[in-house]
Amino acid sequence: MSERSEQSGVVLSWGAASDVGRRRALNEDRYVAQPPVFAVADGMGGQDAGEVASAVAVSALATLVDLDTVGRAEVETVLAVAHDQVRLIETQPGRGAGTTVTGAVVARGPHGPEWLVVNLGDSRTYLRSEGRLERITVDHSEVQELVDAGYITRAQARTHPRRHVITRALGASETPQADWWSLPVEPRDRLLVCSDGLTSEVDDDDIARVLREQTDPQAAAEELVRAALAAGGRDNITVVVVDALEVRTGEDAVGHDCDEDTRPRQAGAAAGGPR
Ligand code: MN
Repeated sequence: MSERSEQSGVVLSWGAASDVGRRRALNEDRYVAQPPVFAVADGMGGQDAGEVASAVAVSALATLVDLDTVGRAEVETVLAVAHDQVRLIETQPGRGAGTTVTGAVVARGPHGPEWLVVNLGDSRTYLRSEGRLERITVDHSEVQELVDAGYITRAQARTHPRRHVITRALGASETPQADWWSLPVEPRDRLLVCSDGLTSEVDDDDIARVLREQTDPQAAAEELVRAALAAGGRDNITVVVVDALEVRTGEDAVGHDCDEDTRPRQAGAAAGGPR
């Protein structure tokens, strides 16, 4: 069952699924899916360092759950603390612990609610808005640099031997600079946050088809995980799907007692009621 609640003027419904996959012994992916925070972390570092690193990142972000106003400053602060903690994780000699982190917090922007998207590494955040799926984040990976330089195509990047080498991560020796985006939340937006265990097995067209066909976010997350397993499941797979069912902006965002009156009415249809 998908969960549902209201945050920063957005009625949200969401679901999540994670699977160790068919080849790995441990699931080093972690996620948080609780308003206003929806994020995935994919840890690395050998032995259990990877799962400790991703758990650190997700626990740091989880401290923002249920806060009324979360913005970039709050997310930057908890990620900086998490970076220092990941640096302290003990690993095998010559290996450092690290983790990707990506996702969005639902924030209050100057003109209404926003998806505040953050990324470090090669996990991804996508947004399906007005029926079109768009990849918001840009992978911090060697193969993405080759794509940007025009040496290889996106399709070739998915099978390239160095596709797993990432150039920025939480816990890396260089203090990482995250990328940020602020996007207005539109009614019926659908956010997808996932680890590379999904995107290395299932291409964007097939991801888009599942997101279009499965209206329930929990069912969509589970079907995407099944698709990655069916395609080989060579890595851990984690998927978070978040729907913005309704968006209240401006005057109707203030106060709840006047909802029935301020909601636009359709001729002949009763206002309000569950969807
Ligand atoms: Mn992975």
